[in-house]
Amino acid sequence: MNLADKLIGIHKFSKGDNPIKFDILAKDPKTLARRGRLHLNHGAVDTPVFMPVGTQGTVKAMSQQELHEMGFQIILGNTYHLYLRPGHDLLKTVGGLHKFINWGGNMLTDSGGFQVFSLEHIRKIGEDGVVFRSYVDGSYHEFTPERVMEIQSAIGADIVMAFDECAPYPCDREYAIGAMNRTHDWAKRSLDSHDPNQAFFGIIQGSVYKDLREESAKFIASLDTDGIAIGGVSVGEGKELMMNAVDWSVPHLPEHKARYLMGVGTPEDILDAVIRGIDMFDCVLPTRLGRNGSLYTSQGRINIKNNKFINDFTPVDPECDCWCCKNHSAAYLRHLYKCDEILASRLATFHNVYFYRTFMINIRAAIEQGRLMEYRKEFMAKYRKRRASVHDDISRQENNNGSRNSFAGHHSAESKS
Ligand SMILES: [Zn+2]
Repeated sequence: MNLADKLIGIHKFSKGDNPIKFDILAKDPKTLARRGRLHLNHGAVDTPVFMPVGTQGTVKAMSQQELHEMGFQIILGNTYHLYLRPGHDLLKTVGGLHKFINWGGNMLTDSGGFQVFSLEHIRKIGEDGVVFRSYVDGSYHEFTPERVMEIQSAIGADIVMAFDECAPYPCDREYAIGAMNRTHDWAKRSLDSHDPNQAFFGIIQGSVYKDLREESAKFIASLDTDGIAIGGVSVGEGKELMMNAVDWSVPHLPEHKARYLMGVGTPEDILDAVIRGIDMFDCVLPTRLGRNGSLYTSQGRINIKNNKFINDFTPVDPECDCWCCKNHSAAYLRHLYKCDEILASRLATFHNVYFYRTFMINIRAAIEQGRLMEYRKEFMAKYRKRRASVHDDISRQENNNGSRNSFAGHHSAESKS
């Protein structure tokens, strides 16, 4: 048997067999939170959901088997990176990214808009699309809405995103208006040219301006999409402005469509956005921070390289029942980091992704029980305990990234290492 025909899991490739729809199963009585289920080509996705980021067709340091066994029903792929390498023609030949990487669950691909717009020095924006140079070999390429839909069709994602212009932060009003209008025009063109077997999400832009966010939300809501994303957030604008973008958009969105906050975020950000009515999230934080030695625990984030873990033979998180915490101590993990061992990244990523998985399961249960605010209080009371012990170098590292590149932060593509 061709290896590519042997997909992991029970959800065999069934493109077009099932109608794409979003069911709301429960609502939290005190907040705007919804417990939902999104039906896609590779099975159901329970929401609110966190989608691990698999930029290059791999969630860094995790195997597809591990993601499946952890219960993830959807992961992200990155159109820009996959288009450059291995190329969508190759993916089309093998029958799509699912088969290439042997993933039987759902997949969402971003439109590549974020990447072509964040690599400022190598682009030219026109009304038709964007010309950019490959960071791999310097060759020139053009992304138009039609082209991006064609690429996402070849990749075979279950959810495709409209081609949009993600305005940077800070961004003056005039530029934000231009970017928003292009995003609206491209949303229509993306919708008209997308593969109807794929679920299609439009993207709201509008930067930090209330009236633009409202206008964009109303426009995207008026289109015949399967879901709606709020984009242009997590670009260095800070939590307050990010939550403003959510608060200004949500009242204009239809109840029956899934809502996706792109590139978010920390556990606190996710909780606060769920409370505001968001259903879907993606973020590089659990994987990227894991590789840097920063681990999420029920008592806050810790830096495993800290000397205080030299003789700590307890698990990284006593409340976690992941494979790492059940089998290894904080002291061992610290030792692996100090020696630059590959297993350090493997274990830390595994634990962090598992932390997000458990966190989302708890959020879904709390919504079903109508006690999301109580859950938030309990979670935050514990989570803030050890936050002060997070090593300064991690915060410094993130700040440095932020000053180098206005798009730094938590957005949807993983860096190289
Ligand atoms: Zn663990």
